[in-house]
Amino acid sequence: MAERAARYVIIGNGIAGSVAARRLREFDRACRVSLLTDEPYPLYNRVRLPHYLKGMISREEVFMRSAEEEKARGIDFLAETTVSAVHAQEKFVECADGRRLPFDRLLIATGGRPRRLSVPGAQGPGVFTYQYLDDVNAMRELLPNARRAMVVGGSLIGYELVAAFREWNLETTWLIRGPHFMHRQIDAEAGALVSRIAQRHGVKVIYGEEVAEMQRANGSVSEARTTGGRTISCDLVGVAVGLKKNIDFLQGSTIALNEGVLTDEHLVTSHPDVYAAGDVAEFNDLVVGQRSLLGTWHNASLQGELVAKNMLGAQLVFKAVPIYSNPLFDSRIKVIGITSQSDRSLESLVKNEPDQGRYLRLFFRGAQLVGAVIIGKIDYHLRVALMKYMLTGEHVPNKQHLIATQSHTV
Ligand SMILES: Cc1cc2nc3c(=O)[nH]c(=O)nc-3n(C[C@H](O)[C@H](O)[C@H](O)COP(=O)(O)OP(=O)(O)OC[C@H]3O[C@@H](n4cnc5c(N)ncnc54)[C@H](O)[C@@H]3O)c2cc1C
Repeated sequence: MAERAARYVIIGNGIAGSVAARRLREFDRACRVSLLTDEPYPLYNRVRLPHYLKGMISREEVFMRSAEEEKARGIDFLAETTVSAVHAQEKFVECADGRRLPFDRLLIATGGRPRRLSVPGAQGPGVFTYQYLDDVNAMRELLPNARRAMVVGGSLIGYELVAAFREWNLETTWLIRGPHFMHRQIDAEAGALVSRIAQRHGVKVIYGEEVAEMQRANGSVSEARTTGGRTISCDLVGVAVGLKKNIDFLQGSTIALNEGVLTDEHLVTSHPDVYAAGDVAEFNDLVVGQRSLLGTWHNASLQGELVAKNMLGAQLVFKAVPIYSNPLFDSRIKVIGITSQSDRSLESLVKNEPDQGRYLRLFFRGAQLVGAVIIGKIDYHLRVALMKYMLTGEHVPNKQHLIATQSHTV
């Protein structure tokens, strides 16, 4: 590394990039850190967006930092700055406005952006994805006067939209293309359990159909026609049909890409001075023995911490079991480790107790436990055992015993 003050550039001001910026400045007081984001805001908490959408907290309570705080910490915070290309060999990033920023080490922490519906009528007022503060600001403007909503997509984000619309007392239809909610991670019985929970909270759930087109009245959305021939009246549509990692600007950069930015277990990309962290990093995951793309806040934050230290010269290995825990109205779903969504060859075992509103599915690669989906309550000791097996990679001596003999009541 050069003897003058080191220059670090971070693309993306989500939790991964923001934590990394702070740690770099803390551990190397002389270094220069530029933190770039295409959004107009300093760091805010995406996990709190559902609370803001439901009207439970104010817009101000979503924010975690201010631009002044970043400046006071010696971070050069550049909002509304889109990076359009990375020149890894020449060591500079190019911004859409033509600026060029040189770096000694670069961090890519650009997360993902929601996929949109491409059917006729889907572009324009009344149809929203759910990823950014601006998405929620725009929905909040319509919500007080809306009466009917539709949510497209049987994902956790789809669920979050459904729950928020019901919180505003909207007549809500949930359109799920697959046979049930999260159909790649849970089976039909668990899907039925989630359906019952949603229906009990006033949601109309439709499976196996997609939006064919949307009609508009006075510019805003008024109804959707489905591939099954139904017409659904709606003045608000939430779209939750998956995320695409923000890597387009890296095409042609020589940095190896797959679905995300490929890294080793130290979060170093194919270029030794370029790192990736957070949702966009497709890293060599030693816990599950494959490349993983994770989508949790906690993971992004941990990776931000670790990558900063590695950018300063450490050789730390990223090892963690991701847990995504989400309410499902009055129940809860936890997705731990990897599931059949990312590896369809995994073996799975299921324990379903619909009368108690509980479901447990464990995912194995050979004798190794690599993931779990839990709906409803789970015994603390069983959860500790699951985490221990996953973190250590210790073989499970008897899989049936693990799932069957442990109680998962509280
Ligand atoms: C509504 C919602 C609810 C959620 N709930 C939970 C939850 O309960 N639990 C949980 O664990 N996780 C949850 N998540 C997921 C969690 O928020 C993410 O895993 C986490 O925020 C990822 O952080 P990140 O720093 O990797 O990326 P991001 O937060 O996505 O930040 C990336 C930033 O980079 C910017 N960017 C992208 N490309 C460029 C470019 N070319 N130039 C400049 N800037 C760029 C983006 O605009 C963005 O600001 C939720 C997400 C959403 C949307």
